[in-house]
Amino acid sequence: MSVQVVSAAAAAKVPEVELKDLSPSEAEPQLGLSTAAVSAMAPPAGGGDPEAPAPPAERPPAPGPGSGPAAALSPAAGKVPQASAMKRSDPHHQHQRHRDGGEALVSPDGTVTEAPRTVKKQIQFADQKQEFNKRPTKIGRRSLSRSISQSSTDSYSSAASYTDSSDDETSPRDKQQKNSKGSSDFCVKNIKQAEFGRREIEIAEQEMPALMALRKRAQGEKPLAGAKIVGCTHITAQTAVLMETLGALGAQCRWAACNIYSTLNEVAAALAESGFPVFAWKGESEDDFWWCIDRCVNVEGWQPNMILDDGGDLTHWIYKKYPNMFKKIKGIVEESVTGVHRLYQLSKAGKLCVPAMNVNDSVTKQKFDNLYCCRESILDGLKRTTDMMFGGKQVVVCGYGEVGKGCCAALKAMGSIVYVTEIDPICALQACMDGFRLVKLNEVIRQVDIVITCTGNKNVVTREHLDRMKNSCIVCNMGHSNTEIDVASLRTPELTWERVRSQVDHVIWPDGKRIVLLAEGRLLNLSCSTVPTFVLSITATTQALALIELYNAPEGRYKQDVYLLPKKMDEYVASLHLPTFDAHLTELTDEQAKYLGLNKNGPFKPNYYRY
Ligand code: NAD
Repeated sequence: MSVQVVSAAAAAKVPEVELKDLSPSEAEPQLGLSTAAVSAMAPPAGGGDPEAPAPPAERPPAPGPGSGPAAALSPAAGKVPQASAMKRSDPHHQHQRHRDGGEALVSPDGTVTEAPRTVKKQIQFADQKQEFNKRPTKIGRRSLSRSISQSSTDSYSSAASYTDSSDDETSPRDKQQKNSKGSSDFCVKNIKQAEFGRREIEIAEQEMPALMALRKRAQGEKPLAGAKIVGCTHITAQTAVLMETLGALGAQCRWAACNIYSTLNEVAAALAESGFPVFAWKGESEDDFWWCIDRCVNVEGWQPNMILDDGGDLTHWIYKKYPNMFKKIKGIVEESVTGVHRLYQLSKAGKLCVPAMNVNDSVTKQKFDNLYCCRESILDGLKRTTDMMFGGKQVVVCGYGEVGKGCCAALKAMGSIVYVTEIDPICALQACMDGFRLVKLNEVIRQVDIVITCTGNKNVVTREHLDRMKNSCIVCNMGHSNTEIDVASLRTPELTWERVRSQVDHVIWPDGKRIVLLAEGRLLNLSCSTVPTFVLSITATTQALALIELYNAPEGRYKQDVYLLPKKMDEYVASLHLPTFDAHLTELTDEQAKYLGLNKNGPFKPNYYRY
């Protein structure tokens, strides 16, 4: 059974809508274009199989010179990729930064090596059998395994624990804990914190209407009955709502954290208390990290048949340690840029042995994560760290993509004077039309009060820029990991670093000038503010629907490739969130549907539509 939705329009009225079987063979919308034109622009549709649903997403363009402006003028540039596929040209698909400042290079077979930079360390995959019972020393732990993915170390400080457990230094692995039903199939910091975590989950539920609606609708049918999902994501209240929804839809879940810092101990405790085998706590060592993942998959009498991953570490672990498990696995759902990239690498090397769904590039996720989330969180991050007033301040935002647009809109609304830098004339023109002054960074660097990077690029703010900034200039990054500001160039003997608050450093020049560096150049909003639950709701709903789709897809619908969520499901994710706003969708008349060449129930846009 494939669970999809009938009408996005109708779905806006949540109570009436039901999950329904739906043939995937509905024609792509034509929008007045000829079939040939549409299919030429759409990615390959599963070998032309009319039953084929979501076509495999396009591969990321090759890195290097071919992706530069000159390449855009080459004949190949005439090919129109999906908007989402275009995102994957982001250079960090090839170059990924790690916590210690090293740059990871991903080779075509998916292996990751670290380029020599500050730490000359080869990152290796752990093919050797690990002895988890013999606990290694702290130093020994790091050498046991391949370094965990970047997302596993990027900190969400906003997800810090609510209760103070700092006095409890005992490793959860050394504790004997049981939940109130007597189960000890979990490993969390302190099961006694469960009640507090439960309250957090209940708060999150209020802002996750789509998952709650899915739960309601699934009361009769259980589209995930028999599914055994192993998950590796941030363990937060929002994830808990997702897990409990998957449970309500019939799945059994085992879960580990995809990030060693981000677990909310109280939430993990609440999940363990309600019977979910959760293996995660805030502040895991790298050895703990892999041990937790292993405890999720290496279980007597239980084998996963679905994977939900964020960063690709879980998928990687199963590939390396338990490849036979893939015989039973029906699909992988991956949420992160890094993880999706790894999947494409596997697919390219012919090593992907199950279908995978790339939810990172769903339209709803991209728009909400990048544009709206940043629009909401940039002010929060700046305010919490600096207590600054925005009105009248001069700000330069580097990059006018989704993230840059969100930041600019928020700052403009607060009365800041906003400048934009761009390399792409289209985005540059958009900035101009939106009323921003397009400048080169050098032209304004002496006068601005705040510099914000949002490019996905590296070394956008260099030491030369930093030298020329005025006293008290605030410098922060909203774009990619920690690559955009050349923070390493500030670690020279003549400059003094002063930690003034958590995530706030003053870097002081010999003449007394100081700049205010936030989160050491890491993502400001993830490090210093919270991400709105509603945004996470969109992502979680996309994940849930992708799992349902892959789990229920008839044999042969999905091949061993990476797919985007079917457009119709993307639309469904959006429609499930509309009732929150008491929004009323217009339904096409038969005549209008015919005129536009659309199915009345959607999808309403072709895959190449840019929104
Ligand atoms: P995007 O590709 O839409 O926009 C980036 C823009 O930067 C592009 O228009 C590009 O032309 C421009 N650019 C590239 N190099 C530049 C340079 N040297 N100077 C000026 N402009 C330059 O990407 P996006 O969706 O806006 O995402 C940007 C980055 O933010 C990505 O790395 C993404 O992973 C990250 N991101 C962060 C958050 C967050 O919560 N902070 C959320 C989503 C995405």
